[in-house]
Amino acid sequence: MVFLFISNGVKNHFMQKLSPKCYGKNAQTFIEVNGFVSPCCWLVSTNKRADLLKKLLGNKFDKLYITESSMDEIKQIYKKLENTWKTDQPFSTCLEECRNNKNV
Ligand code: SF4
Repeated sequence: MVFLFISNGVKNHFMQKLSPKCYGKNAQTFIEVNGFVSPCCWLVSTNKRADLLKKLLGNKFDKLYITESSMDEIKQIYKKLENTWKTDQPFSTCLEECRNNKNV
């Protein structure tokens, strides 16, 4: 299943710092065994990263389970993550895993 989280309009803004691997033809949806949905395996790969995502998304984090929300609703929740890509401080896990090395 392909689950594209970002729109073409955003691409131009984030490419300076990031090359998101969750974008384009390789985009995928990850559903953990507990039902947690994410655009990649890195966002909750450690407790620290999960805590950072919880801090960013607040009480919406608990809605990221397939049993709690529709895929469209989950996609909307991840917009907040996507919006960090347009800033000077993209979400730290995204910067660690998908940094655009050409412009560092
Ligand atoms: S770390 Fe961030 S930018 Fe990279 S694939 Fe995951 S969600 Fe996308």
